Amino acid sequence: MTMDADVLIAGAGPTGLMLASELALAGVDVAIVERRESQALAGSRAGGLHSRSIEMLDQRGIADRFLAEGRPVQVGQFSGVALDISDFPTRHPYSLGLWQNHIERILAGWVDELRVTIHRGRKVTGFSQDDTGVDVELSDGQRLRARYLVGCDGGRSRIRKAAGIEFPGWDPTTSSLIAEAELAEEPELGMRQDARGIHGIGRVEYEIRDGKVVFADSGPVRVMVTEAQVGPSSEPTLRDLSEALVSVYGTDYGIHSPTWISRFTDMTRQAAAYRKGRVLLAGDAAHVHYPAGGQGLNTGVQDAVNLGWKLAQVVNRTSPESLLDTYHAERHPVAARVLRTTMAHVALGRQDERTAALRVTIAELLRSDEPRRRFAAVMFGLDIHYDLGAGHQLLGRRMPDLDLVTADGPLRVFTLLHKARPVLLNLGVSSGFDIAPWADRVQLVNATYDGVWELPALGAVTAPTAVLIRPDGYVAWVGEPTQPGLADALTTWFGPPAAA
Ligand SMILES: Cc1cc2nc3c(=O)[nH]c(=O)nc-3n(C[C@H](O)[C@H](O)[C@H](O)COP(=O)(O)OP(=O)(O)OC[C@H]3O[C@@H](n4cnc5c(N)ncnc54)[C@H](O)[C@@H]3O)c2cc1C
Repeated sequence: MTMDADVLIAGAGPTGLMLASELALAGVDVAIVERRESQALAGSRAGGLHSRSIEMLDQRGIADRFLAEGRPVQVGQFSGVALDISDFPTRHPYSLGLWQNHIERILAGWVDELRVTIHRGRKVTGFSQDDTGVDVELSDGQRLRARYLVGCDGGRSRIRKAAGIEFPGWDPTTSSLIAEAELAEEPELGMRQDARGIHGIGRVEYEIRDGKVVFADSGPVRVMVTEAQVGPSSEPTLRDLSEALVSVYGTDYGIHSPTWISRFTDMTRQAAAYRKGRVLLAGDAAHVHYPAGGQGLNTGVQDAVNLGWKLAQVVNRTSPESLLDTYHAERHPVAARVLRTTMAHVALGRQDERTAALRVTIAELLRSDEPRRRFAAVMFGLDIHYDLGAGHQLLGRRMPDLDLVTADGPLRVFTLLHKARPVLLNLGVSSGFDIAPWADRVQLVNATYDGVWELPALGAVTAPTAVLIRPDGYVAWVGEPTQPGLADALTTWFGPPAAA
């Protein structure tokens, strides 16, 4: 049966776009089906990118596109304590303030350059899978066949439901209205906390001055109001918003002309399996949670970078299908921790006196340096440690973007990852590594590095003599006497050796 694409992705949100770009870079024939007619996004949703996501964009050579439009800022906070990461050992020790519509626009431009087809204005309505592929039904009656289907179609994922993948978790305990609109009167700008929860009003346009958000003097506002009770699942109206503002601020400031009104909750759920046969899930389709800490978009983009090269290798037949199981094994625990952190965030926001005492206790803890560094590394995705067995501290952790020296001159580690190909980085005196059977897949780079090896939260680690770096920037093997097995690692991650 003919294939319309090797991989079909449902949804051109941040996760679907990032995944499409990763697959296209690896030479996979990939297409997206997106129900929106254009990339335009109603409302602002996510407010930015965290340090590790920026690093991942840097690994592909496209971080500058985002940095040129966003504003670096220390926005992280937990339990009322600012989590400043400006002392972290990364080239990007900050978050980037950039609304989701801009993030999507820039990602869509990148996907376009990589010549990915996007079937816009059509929904995936169902699918059936067999031993060789997936038949995907679209809302216009068309059917497309692909070898794999990835549901990047958001929290209400049609793909997840049609695949029969369970979505266990917790029902909402709180809800908030969020909107962009005009106000006839001057509002109280900034955040406000009361017995009901957190509320806030800010201008959509803002600047960062001396590390602080400074709102524009005029223009549309972004309003967030916690509701007295968990709201219904129906779409909220201007009247709902006006009443909620009056109940918190005593006035609705003459709110009018909304361009977007929505409701979010602390519903917390995670897909029980990230893969069922030839169907996979990523991003909000696989996990939903309260937006505090701004981790949803970031977790989805990082899911995509974990899945992309693995799925590409399976499609290209360099690796067996079992490589896809490592996607669930590695990413499910990461999102489970995000879910825990956001639940803790909501719980700490409760206004009874015992919770207030707990909040103060946690805040005291986070003001100490070691807890601050450890917890901030979690929040910004810099401490992710995939369980690749015992060994050097780098194993399963992100490879730092070191300034190397090679025979051809200076070179950053992240530059080596631009093409999303694995790298064996030899920092020893002589190579002695024979990777000829993998030379079609793995780049061998000889270089020197005299600086300190420092990891976020962990601090300095012993300098290795060689590292095998996966296309997602995580270390798959470390070359030192106690860590043998390079050939095994190459086979596990990048497929069996080519026949001589
Ligand atoms: C108020 C709010 C604030 C937030 N703040 C942050 C933040 O600061 N930082 C952060 O990281 N995250 C934040 N988030 C979360 C963030 O917006 C999401 O995690 C992110 O959008 C998830 O990306 P995604 O691509 O997985 O899913 P989505 O962005 O939901 O994209 C899914 C895409 O699939 C399309 N689609 C859906 N169904 C179908 C179908 N059947 N067929 C074809 N296409 C389909 C949709 O049109 C959409 O384009 C916030 C969310 C909210 C609501």
